[in-house]
Amino acid sequence: MGWAHVSTGDLLRAALKAGTALGLEARRFMEAGELVPDDVIVDLVREHLAAMPSGRGVVLDGFPRTVPQAEALGAVLAEEGRRVDRVVLLEAGEEVLVKRISGRRSSPGGRVYNVHFDPPRRAGYCDDTGEALIHRADDQPETVRKRLAVYHEATAPLVGYYDAEGVLVRVDGEGDIARVQAALLEAVGVAHGSTVASD
Ligand code: AMP
Repeated sequence: MGWAHVSTGDLLRAALKAGTALGLEARRFMEAGELVPDDVIVDLVREHLAAMPSGRGVVLDGFPRTVPQAEALGAVLAEEGRRVDRVVLLEAGEEVLVKRISGRRSSPGGRVYNVHFDPPRRAGYCDDTGEALIHRADDQPETVRKRLAVYHEATAPLVGYYDAEGVLVRVDGEGDIARVQAALLEAVGVAHGSTVASD
């Protein structure tokens, strides 16, 4: 759809790989499955949003994750005459999530596979490049459970926050990939089949 994709997790992992001060600061939180402090995250997002042309749609992935982050986002967007149009709540049970997240593998280039639902042709290697796939340290089942506990405590309150703003849409995330994708597109107001896929 030509929208920009801003994933705070991807930005943090890139900072970590590049060995920047931000990456070093974030590392211990990420490895423990905890949240990186709000001020660090908000600065990171503000910087990225400022660099983006204002007419272009942006998908924020993994952000905001706390009410203070949501408040900061609202303020940053308001300064530029922008706003949050839609917030998608993808709902799935805890065991489904642990299976999906701990089964995730990604290529160094960023293609994401899943050993249960979307495996590569040769186990452990990317179909496109043949490179060895990465299993994120924080995708181990124990850390995933910790991340879910953090979600319930710090992130779940955003459901009420955005519901009150009238922008929340719930999507059943338990179906297969095609069904969830169709529901997701509908939730953001795009008729399925009308998009120009980029991959
Ligand atoms: P993700 O790739 O979105 O699952 O994020 C991986 C990890 O990066 C999280 O478990 C957190 O430690 C950190 N992180 C990513 N986004 C945020 C955020 N919005 N607020 C705080 N920490 C974050």
